[in-house]
Amino acid sequence: MQTPKTLYPEQTKLSALGTSSVYRGRFAPSPSGSLHFGSLIAALASYIDAKAHHGQWLVRMEDIDTPRVVRGAADDILATLEAYGLYWDEEIVYQSHRHSLYHDVLSDLTTNSDVYACTCTRKQIKQRGGFYDNHCRASQNQFDNNALRLKQNCPVYQFEDALQGSVSIPEPIAQEDYIVKRRDGLYAYQLVVVVDDIEQKISHVVRGADLLEPTARQLSLFQQLGHTPPHYLHVPLAVAEPGFKLSKQNHAPAIDNKAPLPALKAALAFLGFNSIELSHIDEVSDALNWATHVYQRANLPQHREIQVNQLSELEYQFQPL
Ligand code: GLU
Ligand code: ZN
Repeated sequence: MQTPKTLYPEQTKLSALGTSSVYRGRFAPSPSGSLHFGSLIAALASYIDAKAHHGQWLVRMEDIDTPRVVRGAADDILATLEAYGLYWDEEIVYQSHRHSLYHDVLSDLTTNSDVYACTCTRKQIKQRGGFYDNHCRASQNQFDNNALRLKQNCPVYQFEDALQGSVSIPEPIAQEDYIVKRRDGLYAYQLVVVVDDIEQKISHVVRGADLLEPTARQLSLFQQLGHTPPHYLHVPLAVAEPGFKLSKQNHAPAIDNKAPLPALKAALAFLGFNSIELSHIDEVSDALNWATHVYQRANLPQHREIQVNQLSELEYQFQPL
């Protein structure tokens, strides 16, 4: 079948870049507060990369960590996404509704004797050098009221990120038997994120570079579960100062649901889009359409962190670190 001609040559180039014919991306916020400038960047980057590849863009609410969930935050995040023109495809998935799925995967791993209970405290791990040294592997600790760890049978020491290039992982992290179920009984992020990405058939993960290192664990879990991992692209993390992710506490620029355009344009400029061309746009939908049409991964800033200073309502300053 012939592919339809496109008005935008950039898109043809992008389609050729993608390796899988079905692109399914996602944005996976944790509803521990409102969306701020840093999370807007992750949402926007994943949305544009998906749409530029004619893909689906899903939203998954990562509300598994119930003590950190703030009441009303999930709805607030969704309202913000809508105000910024970021409309999702398919129904939203809530991790809090998927305990049986996580339970089944963990049961299978346990049946294979890949899971064991660990009684080590954070303090003990710190005293032994700061990395968990798989201390309890051979102990027969009871599962109840203890953290459960997965035997690291497929350590990943290096992987290719579509933006950050080759990423090396320190040995103790790659080899660590990480926690899959916490002592408080909650499923750990590392487990649920992979189970969900598999179940939702996610082909491309685009998110902030704070999750670069955890990606190695996720890749190893895909392997352990016998699934092909998605492609990963990590955009620079927006920080208030080196090593400090933007947050409410450190004056993250406010994002406004009633007047979304300034923050939207600033987030696009952060991602390497041309500010002069952006200055001629005065509708949210036009900004997103334009960005999707001119998007090329090669124009994304290839940094792990970019410092953000908001000078006024309309003026932002970015300093790559
Ligand atoms: N829920 C995670 C966060 O907000 C992101 C998970 C992911 O994108 O894999 O940091
Ligand atoms: Zn232990």
